[in-house]
Amino acid sequence: MSKVYIVRSNDYSQVDTKLAELIEMMGGTSQFVKPNQRIALKPNLLVATEKEKAVTTHPSLLTATGKIFGKVTGSMLLAESPGSGYAYDKKALEKTYLACGMSDAAKIGGIELNYDTSFETVSFPDGKLVKRFEIITPILRCDSYLNLCKFKTHGLMIMTGGVKNIFGVIPGRSKPGYHSTMTTPELFAGMLLDLLALVPPKLTIMDAVVGMEGDGPFNGTPRHVGLLLASTNPLALDFVVSNMMGIPIDKNPLLVEAKKRNLHPSGIEEIEVIGVPLAEVCIPDFKLPASFTKENRRVLGSFLKPFVKNSFTVDPRIIKSNCTACGTCKKACPRDAIVIKKFAMIDKKKCIRCYCCHEMCQYNAIELHKSWLFRLFNQAV
Ligand code: SF4
Ligand code: SF4
Repeated sequence: MSKVYIVRSNDYSQVDTKLAELIEMMGGTSQFVKPNQRIALKPNLLVATEKEKAVTTHPSLLTATGKIFGKVTGSMLLAESPGSGYAYDKKALEKTYLACGMSDAAKIGGIELNYDTSFETVSFPDGKLVKRFEIITPILRCDSYLNLCKFKTHGLMIMTGGVKNIFGVIPGRSKPGYHSTMTTPELFAGMLLDLLALVPPKLTIMDAVVGMEGDGPFNGTPRHVGLLLASTNPLALDFVVSNMMGIPIDKNPLLVEAKKRNLHPSGIEEIEVIGVPLAEVCIPDFKLPASFTKENRRVLGSFLKPFVKNSFTVDPRIIKSNCTACGTCKKACPRDAIVIKKFAMIDKKKCIRCYCCHEMCQYNAIELHKSWLFRLFNQAV
C-alpha cells in the first residue's frame, strides 16, 4: 500500500512548521537523507516569473526543505532545468532563480544554487519506450534528490504533479526533442514513466498552498488549495491529486499508462491517505484545461475521426494583440511550426498540438481553441 501524507497549510507563512509536521508524520528526516550525503532539491521552475503567479514552486517550500533536511545533511543543491526552449546556461539559471525568488530562498535555507550546466547521456536499456536520456549532471552526481513539485493543470497531460515535474532533469534545449517524438499524451506519459524509473526521487513534496487551475501550467489561474502533500511514490501522489482535481483516472494519460504497465499503485484504493482525509480535500469546482474532455469523444469521435481528423482539435492560437514577437514559443516548438514576423504565426499542418508554445508564452498570447466539432463531441469541463 502506498502512502500519501497531507497537511493543511493555509498560507506560505506556515510552510516551515507545516512541512516539519509533515516530515515527522512520515517518520522524520532520517528516512530520506543521511549525514554527509549530497542532496539535490528539484523544484518546478518552468519559467522566470514571480511566485504570485503560482507557476513555480513557492520559494518558502525550498527554504523550509533546506532548513529541515539541512540539519541532517548540510549539503544541498538546487538543481533544475527550466522549461522547453530555455537555454540551460548560467545566464538563464541566474534570471530564473532571481525571478522565482529562489536566490533569497536558497540563502535562507542554506542551499547552494547550481550553475553547472553540463549534462550526460545515460543509457537505459530497461526503458519500455526510451532507452537513452539526457540528464543534467547535478542530479546524476548527488546521492539522491527531493522532488518539490506544484499542484497545477497542464494542457497536454491535464495535470502536472509529482511525475511530470521530473521532466525538469532533462536539459532545456533537449526537451522539444522529446515532445517531437512523443507526440501524444500516451507516448509522453510512457516517456515520463521511463524517466521516473531511471531517476526516482527519494521523496516528493507538493506545494499545493496556492495551485493553478484552468489553462496551466503557465496561463491558468492561481487557486488557493491550502495544502502540502508528500509521498515517497510520486505516482501515488498523482493519483491523489488527480482525484482532488476531479480528473477520472481513465482520463489521466499518465495514470492510464501506469496501469497498463502494472505499476503500483493502479488505483486510489491502493493508497493510504494519512493526515487530512481525501474526501475533505477534493475540489468539486476545480477548472481543468481546455484540452480536457469527458467520455463521449471515444464513441462518436472515433467513428468520425478518420473523416474529419483535423477538425477534432484543440489548437494553439495566437492572440495578436498580446504577442510581443519575443520568439520564446518558436524556440520551444519541437516541429518548427512557428514563424515570427510582427507576431507569431503557427503552421497548423506542422503542429502536433503538444502545447509547449502555450506553456512557455509569458504574455498570455496563445490560447487553446476548441474546434466546433471538438466541442460538439466532447463535454469539456
Ligand atoms: S506568442 Fe508569446 S512566446 Fe510567442 S512570440 Fe508571441 S509573446 Fe512571444
Ligand atoms: S505550434 Fe504546435 S507543435 Fe509547436 S509548440 Fe505549439 S502546439 Fe507544439
